[in-house]
Amino acid sequence: MVKESYLRLTAKETDILSLKRKLNLAKGILEKGGRTSVVRAVCQVSKDTAIQLYKEIYGQAPTSGMLPYDSDWIIKTPENCLHGSIYCNVLQTISKNNDNCSEREKIVEKENSILLTKGEIFLSSYMLYEQIINKARNKELTINRAWHISQQIAMSYISGRNCTRCNCFHMSISHYPDIYKLCPVCDSVCDAIGRQKWKGPNLNENKKNDATDIFSKYKFHSNK
Ligand SMILES: [Zn+2]
Repeated sequence: MVKESYLRLTAKETDILSLKRKLNLAKGILEKGGRTSVVRAVCQVSKDTAIQLYKEIYGQAPTSGMLPYDSDWIIKTPENCLHGSIYCNVLQTISKNNDNCSEREKIVEKENSILLTKGEIFLSSYMLYEQIINKARNKELTINRAWHISQQIAMSYISGRNCTRCNCFHMSISHYPDIYKLCPVCDSVCDAIGRQKWKGPNLNENKKNDATDIFSKYKFHSNK
């Protein structure tokens, strides 16, 4: 027997032709551990709809409160940088392919379009990241963090570059000095308990130090 849904959509939401795609996308994000605030932002559904969907999937109310956010997460450790870079690489590749399809298929009517929406690209990229990572390592990047990273790319706060030594594509914070644009493969070392550390300057230490440090002018995105 099919379980009845108690989803009550607003007039604005039911007015959308692609509603089914949008709800599938919302369900996919929630099933990957996405918070309702991420679902609202990606799918442009109301708070009530996102919460009701969550309840129908998990049988309980979602966690409330702010999402944890760290603007420098991607360069905090080589592992963060590696995982963030893999996700960004997948995201940019899928986005580029979608744009190329878009050029070829301009005659396709919007409701029948096979092109991915930005939200679908986000979820597909995250799922592909999981497939790449789960075989080899623990998953470092949650879907909520992936959403923040996608936003940081969109506003050019972070950007990618190729390492001139190993040719690995990795992300860094666009406006930071080059000494902090480290390669997670070439510039990392293992400490005594097996954790990956940067060989270069310690970002966390430098941020704690005197007020004249180079980061003092980059506080505008900080969560502190
Ligand atoms: Zn390298």
